[in-house]
Amino acid sequence: MNHYLQYCKPSLSSALMSIGLDKTYHRAQGQYLYYKDSHGGEKAVLDLLGGYGAVLLGHNDPALKQRAIELLQADTPMHHQFSIRSGAGGLAEKLQPLLKKETGWPDDFRCAYTSTGAESVEIAIKHSEMIRGHKLDLLSQQSERALEQAALAWEQGEEVSLSLSEEQTQAHPTLQGASRDKLLAYIRDYNANVLQQPPVFIALNHAFHGKLTTSIQLTHGAMYRQPFRRLGLRTEFASIAQLDALCRGEEAWIALPELLLPKKTKSGWQLAGVPVPRVAAVLAEPVQGEGGVYVLTESDAEVLHRVRDKLGCPLIADEVQSGSGRCGSLLAGSQIGLKPDYVVLSKALGAGLSKLGVVAIRSGQYADGFDILQSSTFAEDEMSCQLAAAYLDRLFEEEGRVLAKVRDLGELLLGALKGLHHRYPDVIKDIRGKGLLLGIEFHSQENAPAHLIRTSAYQGALGYLLTGHLLNEYGIRVAPPASAGSVLRIEPTILLTQPQIDELLYALDRVCLAMRYQDTGFLMHF
Ligand code: PMP
Repeated sequence: MNHYLQYCKPSLSSALMSIGLDKTYHRAQGQYLYYKDSHGGEKAVLDLLGGYGAVLLGHNDPALKQRAIELLQADTPMHHQFSIRSGAGGLAEKLQPLLKKETGWPDDFRCAYTSTGAESVEIAIKHSEMIRGHKLDLLSQQSERALEQAALAWEQGEEVSLSLSEEQTQAHPTLQGASRDKLLAYIRDYNANVLQQPPVFIALNHAFHGKLTTSIQLTHGAMYRQPFRRLGLRTEFASIAQLDALCRGEEAWIALPELLLPKKTKSGWQLAGVPVPRVAAVLAEPVQGEGGVYVLTESDAEVLHRVRDKLGCPLIADEVQSGSGRCGSLLAGSQIGLKPDYVVLSKALGAGLSKLGVVAIRSGQYADGFDILQSSTFAEDEMSCQLAAAYLDRLFEEEGRVLAKVRDLGELLLGALKGLHHRYPDVIKDIRGKGLLLGIEFHSQENAPAHLIRTSAYQGALGYLLTGHLLNEYGIRVAPPASAGSVLRIEPTILLTQPQIDELLYALDRVCLAMRYQDTGFLMHF
């Protein structure tokens, strides 16, 4: 513990100590993590956090562990980069029919591999900008051609003046009555400037897409993003209602620039406005995990499709947490009819044993040569790909028995939590989620009579206080999502049983009672 505090995470370790979460787990099996108490005795903790969604079948699942052992014993190559890699190819092949079925697209998907969720998001971002770049290059050529044609026509004695719309006169006052050379220079500069503008990305309110230097700018939680705001990526965060308003033309909260192209018409030379793709991609998590467990609906999916069409950019489904079976299907989005152009998977796809991410891009939208520009030493390693393939086999064997279990267990747990909500409507604000990705939102305690409850709520730390209590008092491990301190996130494994649901409910019942009566002494017991 001390070396972790001293050399790795000093602030986090202190925070963990202050709320009793400073456990050192030495063993993990099935639904349990084990630590040694102060007397050296082994304590079992029921893990309902599931590696932030990475462990669906249970810790160290015996069959998958056996597969990993076999791969190691067979001296499977780990580092055979720059060759034809059969694990990566085999996994991508296995994903094809599944992705086609769940997205509804008939196209093949090209798969780019990574090692983490954030890295995968960054690859998706990078690819979308490459595609935008190709479109901008074409527009640049179009602009040059139009300017050359106009210059030639004017050199040959045609009338130089342009008839401008009222809007264009207002936007470009210098064009009014300008000389030929000035006109051409202005338009050339203006277009070059428009084509040079950096991309904008659209992400939803409450979004979480990672914490690397690019992906952090797509993560809505200001605490994580703000210190790095000068680093770059431009993101517009929006609600579904705002996206809908944008599609309907009722709101123009994003400036969509146009190129100016001189064009000869029957009534003389005019300036045609040609839309420039400014937005490189729209990102959405079908179930937002870290933002507070918010579930998108079918009508939300329709809005996302419309905004994608309006902006002419890809729709990226970030299924890093919600996908790979966590919500009862390979993609949570398939349950609401979401048809993304790129699918990002990670976490549970690594079978709870390896670190793997994949970005699957519809082949019709794939940028030729992207696979040459993008690589990483650890991506496509045989072990991770083989384990992910074995994991997918498990999800879909016996007509998807595992996925059906996720859905059934999810319903059972959701029903039980809704019952708790019913008993404590004064304490619990909402219960939501899908499959085995559920959230309990507590009412704001920022005006609570009890000092400790009030101050921890004020600091966005109420969920952490409850987490410490649940761990130490009941041996149950949960945690708030990264950007929602008043929510408890529950992500169990498929091994969860009814007695364990009862155990959780008993513990939560006592927590709710303590919150109702502001019993700080009880909650501080850890
Ligand atoms: N996207 C989503 C939806 C996530 O939930 C997460 C992680 N919680 C990430 C991206 C980032 O994944 P990683 O932590 O592996 O970088």
